[in-house]
Amino acid sequence: MTPCRVIAMDGPAASGKSTVARLLADRLDFALVNSGAFYRAIAWVLLQESGHSGTSEEDTARKILESTNIEVVFEGRSARLSLNGQNPTPHLREPGVNAHVSVISQFPFVRNLLGDIFHSLAAERDCVVEGRDIGTCVFPDTPYKFYIDASPEERQRRRAAEGQTDRVAERDRRDSLRAVAPLTAAPDALRIDTTHLGIEEVLERALAHLAAAGVRPQGT
Ligand code: C5P
Repeated sequence: MTPCRVIAMDGPAASGKSTVARLLADRLDFALVNSGAFYRAIAWVLLQESGHSGTSEEDTARKILESTNIEVVFEGRSARLSLNGQNPTPHLREPGVNAHVSVISQFPFVRNLLGDIFHSLAAERDCVVEGRDIGTCVFPDTPYKFYIDASPEERQRRRAAEGQTDRVAERDRRDSLRAVAPLTAAPDALRIDTTHLGIEEVLERALAHLAAAGVRPQGT
């Protein structure tokens, strides 16, 4: 059996990686795994279960998660978590989740839990997986890696234009400086700076890079 292919798409908040990942998955007919949404879902359930104050204690988070029923559900080609039978999607961009997610994503327990889930998904289907450490830590052996970036000003502007309360710079700082799986580009990733690029141009560059590596949209 041919092993499933993984396209790793890393980069900081609001760099445009989610949009490119979604379009690539559509064009290539791959499953889409937005790993940030998985971390957000975990942050949400921890907020729920800790009386909305959240937890900065890994042990508390572990106890809550060990008694949480965690399942993966597909909606079309997109994978998401179901937590105790609930769909966290409507809550993933709430200010509390924005503020808490980069705290709980530092816990090795949470990273291992989600890492195992990403691996089991990629064992079943070709996937585009987007996040912070996908090309460096989760799938370091995949030959298909991208690092999507944009200037800090442009990224903060994009979030504000979406009407979101999200301190992008603060999350980036935590994500980049943490001891476990920090945000950093894999040396073999193709870097694309989207500050001055339209989405079509970004997509074309990504598709050209993948085509050179032998991954092409079906029927081409
Ligand atoms: O991609 P998004 O901005 O939604 O990710 C939310 C947060 O989840 C990040 O700020 C980071 O703390 C965490 N994350 C992570 N590792 C990933 C993806 C996201 O730590 N692979």
